[in-house]
Amino acid sequence: MAGEVRYISTRGGKSVSCFEAVVSGIADDGGLYVPDAFPQLPPLEDLAGLDYRGLALTVMGSFLPDYGTDGMKQCVEAAYDEKFDHPKIAPLFKKDSFFFLELFHGPTLAFKDMALSVLPHLLKKASQALGNEKKIVILTATSGDTGKAALEGFADVEGTEIIVFYPKNGVSRIQERQMVTQEGENTHVVGIEGNFDDAQNGVKAIFADQGLKSALYDDGYVFSSANSINIGRLIPQVVYYVYSYLQLLKNKEVNAGQNINFCVPTGNFGNILSAYYAKKIGLPVGRLICASNINNVLYDFFETGVYDRNRELYATSSPSMDILVSSNLERLLYDISGQDPDIVKNLQEGLNSTGKFKIGTDMMGRLEDFYGSYATEEDTARAIGDAFKKMGYLIDTHTGVGFDVYRKYIEETGDRAKSVVVSTASPFKFPDAVIEAIGGDSQAGDQMDLLHRLSEISGNPVPLRIENLSRLAVRHNTVCRAGDMKNQVTEILKPGGARR
Ligand SMILES: *Cc1c(COP(=O)(O)O)cnc(C)c1O
Repeated sequence: MAGEVRYISTRGGKSVSCFEAVVSGIADDGGLYVPDAFPQLPPLEDLAGLDYRGLALTVMGSFLPDYGTDGMKQCVEAAYDEKFDHPKIAPLFKKDSFFFLELFHGPTLAFKDMALSVLPHLLKKASQALGNEKKIVILTATSGDTGKAALEGFADVEGTEIIVFYPKNGVSRIQERQMVTQEGENTHVVGIEGNFDDAQNGVKAIFADQGLKSALYDDGYVFSSANSINIGRLIPQVVYYVYSYLQLLKNKEVNAGQNINFCVPTGNFGNILSAYYAKKIGLPVGRLICASNINNVLYDFFETGVYDRNRELYATSSPSMDILVSSNLERLLYDISGQDPDIVKNLQEGLNSTGKFKIGTDMMGRLEDFYGSYATEEDTARAIGDAFKKMGYLIDTHTGVGFDVYRKYIEETGDRAKSVVVSTASPFKFPDAVIEAIGGDSQAGDQMDLLHRLSEISGNPVPLRIENLSRLAVRHNTVCRAGDMKNQVTEILKPGGARR
């Protein structure tokens, strides 16, 4: 299925190679890179015998042709190995009539590992191929999951340094512990006296600081980003959608060619966009069910065609979906506008200046693949409780949002097509909310007690990665004011500085 796919910005201009798209992350005009044509999957029967790595090689290789078979094989093999605690990497489970695709078997117990375990290798190879001799510095602000997954992915990857800023009092206890115990000589973790927005704004200011940029360039460094605007994070996610279909085929749950639906707990719109891309390359997909929590900007968009970020941001029990601007929606807008960069530019300008935009009826008409709904906090807790009581299956809060919305979808549409609910985090990552949802008391005992209680109730062991957290030494204890982030970066990267 090789073809010469190249990448173009959603806001127009010339195409670039996949290497350039991966290294730059975002286009110079502020647009996002998208493939200029979609490769097509070989017949599904021909893929049926492949394991996860074999499939990843085929699918990622077709989107990112410049790596070549050997280069892509090295990336895939370095990524999808024993770091994952399940041999299938992305196993599919049937519970009653429901299917759950578990994407949390990687090192940080959330789905971001699926892409962030391979992105560092893609980035390193692309950078080398482009003749870049500078060290790549990954700067990330995190509200919890992305930072840890990026740290794990980049730890000890040659030619890279990674610096993660997190709000000192704005992440869960487990998330903080995961980050401050991070190993790897090239990893740096700094707490901020402020909230996630402060950390994010600080990182944006550093990226925009031309003086700092050129000083560091002279010292041998270039900045890059590991968030989901990078096409190198989206393409690896297409793989598990195809893989889940192959598992359904193997188990004779579907016949080749039969449409299935995916229900995806959504924040930045990256995961569900990958499902859409899977459909574009020929996977038989019916509806894409977009599940939001009460930060339901996307639900409103699918209902009315109006995207409006002018509203309060609520902190929910599914924090990785607490988001008002879903960056990857721009890639969908590009597609449903008939690949028209002028339309995209107009809509994004509206979003920047007034915080909202409205699409036309023709574009609305091309959204039929999507269905949007949302779960309140009560809905989410009920879905977790029901999954546990009725099926003996423990799900986390993000997956709880997905399961609730999937049940709403069936009720509303009567569509009984086989559907896969995407399970994005381990329930052990959010023990307080999960314990309460299944009728327990989260106030009794410390975090470890909670985890062991969750283990007893569910009959599932506490994942070793979490169990061991209390025994790992704290390696990062720097805390700074948000206004001091730039100095921290300079300090870490200066010759003889914290960089080892
Ligand atoms: C990041 C995240 C999401 C949202 O994924 P997007 O690609 O941003 O839509 C959902 N669940 C979990 C656990 C996450 O970490």
